Amino acid sequence: MTKFIFVTGGVLSSLGKGTIVASIGRILKNAGMKVSAMKIDPYLNCDAGTLNPYEHGEVFVTRDGFECDLDLGNYERFLDIFATKEQNMMMGSVYKSVVEKERKGEFLGTTVQLIPHATNEIKHRIRHAADVTKSDVLVVEVGGTVGDIESDVVFEAARQMRFENGESPSVLFVHLALVPRITTNEHKTKPMQHSVKALLSRGITPDILIARSDSMISEGVKKKIALMCNVLSDSVFCSYNVDNIYMIPEILKAQGLKENLAKKLELKLKPEGKDEWHALLSKWEGRKTHRKIAVVGKYAQTTRDTYMSVFEALKHAAVHAGIKAQLDLVNSEDVEKNLVDLKQYNGFLIPGGYGSRGTEGKISVIKYARENNVPVLGICYGLQLSVIEYSRHILGLSGANSTEINPDTKYPVIDILPEQKAIDEKGGTMRLGAFDVKIVKGTNAYKLYEKEMETESLKPGVKNSKSEIVFKRFRHRYEVNPNYVEKLEKAGMVFSGKDPKREIMKVIELPKHKFFMGCQYHPEFDSRLERPEPLYLAFVKATI
Ligand code: GLN
Repeated sequence: MTKFIFVTGGVLSSLGKGTIVASIGRILKNAGMKVSAMKIDPYLNCDAGTLNPYEHGEVFVTRDGFECDLDLGNYERFLDIFATKEQNMMMGSVYKSVVEKERKGEFLGTTVQLIPHATNEIKHRIRHAADVTKSDVLVVEVGGTVGDIESDVVFEAARQMRFENGESPSVLFVHLALVPRITTNEHKTKPMQHSVKALLSRGITPDILIARSDSMISEGVKKKIALMCNVLSDSVFCSYNVDNIYMIPEILKAQGLKENLAKKLELKLKPEGKDEWHALLSKWEGRKTHRKIAVVGKYAQTTRDTYMSVFEALKHAAVHAGIKAQLDLVNSEDVEKNLVDLKQYNGFLIPGGYGSRGTEGKISVIKYARENNVPVLGICYGLQLSVIEYSRHILGLSGANSTEINPDTKYPVIDILPEQKAIDEKGGTMRLGAFDVKIVKGTNAYKLYEKEMETESLKPGVKNSKSEIVFKRFRHRYEVNPNYVEKLEKAGMVFSGKDPKREIMKVIELPKHKFFMGCQYHPEFDSRLERPEPLYLAFVKATI
């Protein structure tokens, strides 16, 4: 029977609950448990596809085509899993299905209420996620902060699960809250105390508390938290600020979290084998060669979260390439205003994007990289803008564009996918999820992906070096217009990855350039600290 660890948050948002969930999972996975994770978002959205990237960061895409919260990316990276749509539940979809059932008459004769109808739906979906992931332990992140009205129904469902799961301890509550320092050197526990009180008033007694602080809290502060917050004195832990989030599992483990979880949940842990992470963390510290890489995007005003997986994939690649990479998020609109000195960079990554704002800046960066033989990797929109740049400046098609940017362009070198033409609704309607990509023999892409094509875990069911197939995740509506492919090829652009069944171009390269590649998919979603994605690794290596 699956055991459940609910992770809740207090005081404020953005404490890094997702990283804590992923770290708890990692600790237990290393000890031989089959672990997975799930995120519950209290919003009335049905998925993350329609959320604002400035507020919520990147939209992560599961292999089965769900647009989900970026925390799923942390789960995938820390647990080395491929998440499924069941692992991110947005409350909009819960209420939607309750209301749909009401309309069908499934609750005929009853008053439909948050308790039990919505709570039953929540519990059913949590248990279903445990079944789908076949987990010994499912770590469930309750989004939002305790006290938010919209989260209350989720807290109530979690509270009920503790009792419904029977005698043996199978449901555990871990609460993470801010323990700040303001003017003195002292860590203040009062906000944590208040958030635990809020939790208690919802009928939930936390088993473990994690203090989120700027630096390690003292034993005295841990004892005080235990005393005031109703937990055992060995059950208070601290997660403090670090530059490298991959250190967090070790930080928590060093404080005894593994043994504490095992005791409370009666888990039979196995002795830990050799953990590759450990060696990679030392490699992380020991790097000497410095390189500067620019990620050129339009969501550059506030946080880097919009490009979270891109930055993580670059970090993974940099560790393996032995480079200490300074990763700058460059605003493409600043490039348009000539505010950026491109010469300082050893490589450019043009990430995914939508709409026209900032695209000319990205195109001018691609032109600069192409003309000056500086490595450039284009992801999704980045590939499309690379094709536009090449069409304008090499094919001489002045004003060439994507119909997403200029529907009336004379040269629509990027155009909407045929099946997308009739779609009006915006939610969950892009070409989404993982699809086969056929890599063309004799190209750079083939050399890079040769090993991956033989790795079954990366393409379930396929272990065949002759398959020429990699399995990659997409989120787009537009593609390279097939009418221009021959012209582009004649002018030196190689299409090295294609859809195996249709004329859709998936990978481009300029073989004579030091590194000029683009892909229509999002390779960053598959990158792991232990296993950098081949395109990212090759790009980072090319900056040396
Ligand atoms: N806007 C482009 C499209 O929809 C690219 C999408 C992306 O970069 N993810 O095709």
